[in-house]
Amino acid sequence: MSLNGQVAVVTGASRGIGRAIALKLAQEGAAVVVTATTEQGAARTADEIVAAGGKALAVKVDVSVAAEVESLFKQSVEAFGKVDILVNNAGITKDGLLLRMKEEDWDAVLDINLKGCFNCTREAAKLMSKARFGRIVNVSSVVGEMGNPGQANYCASKAGMIGLTKSVAKELARRNVTVNAVTPGFIETDMTSELSEKTREALQEQIPMGRLGSADDIAGAVLFLVSDAAAYVTGHVLSVNGGMYM
Ligand code: NDP
Repeated sequence: MSLNGQVAVVTGASRGIGRAIALKLAQEGAAVVVTATTEQGAARTADEIVAAGGKALAVKVDVSVAAEVESLFKQSVEAFGKVDILVNNAGITKDGLLLRMKEEDWDAVLDINLKGCFNCTREAAKLMSKARFGRIVNVSSVVGEMGNPGQANYCASKAGMIGLTKSVAKELARRNVTVNAVTPGFIETDMTSELSEKTREALQEQIPMGRLGSADDIAGAVLFLVSDAAAYVTGHVLSVNGGMYM
């Protein structure tokens, strides 16, 4: 699945799933623009890629701010000449039951997870439409498909990403730009590290494969969707959840 000569932007790639995706795409030969909310965070993964012989650029960006996203794509083109691949991975949680959920927690999650995806997709689409080539993958979530108590804001943002994926897939298909989503189940990262042992055990029981997923499990699915092997796949939602939701 060679990505030699291609350029990928991966948002939220300082750690967890985004980092694993950035490293995987770089291993396959893509130059990778690594983003995070801090320069050090982005540089950490970019340095790893360069140390392994790859090409990378670290950019600090808040995906919820349109002007910062515009600058991100400008810097990517200045550094590498184009953008072939966008992985919208940046995301946060601010959990709480609906009746206690603060408006600011709703807004923060929707702004980063959904509006951030819109901001990046719109900038990438400008370049990709012109180039008549592009691969966009949105990292949604299994709970965007099935719902989860205590995560109304998060689930709404992740379900929204699925609607965005399918609409933009239809808009850009004629330009040879594919737009797909992956819906990870429960994956071992900082986001899930705070789960109590009891919750973890209860979760594991709901997963037919009997284990939480790894960041690498998600990176493999993303690699497939950006590769030539998936050239005729668009508007698809690929579950990577160990069977917990079918
Ligand atoms: P982490 O919390 O480990 O990492 C989140 C990443 O997003 C970090 O790189 C962080 O940067 C970045 N980020 C946060 N806010 C912003 C922002 N405003 N602008 C740009 N980047 C930002 O998360 P995971 O690796 O677990 O999750 C990655 C994606 O996968 C998320 O979209 C998440 O919703 C989704 N997902 C995760 C699951 C899981 O079980 N872990 C399950 C299903 C989906 P920084 O380091 O600077 O804070």
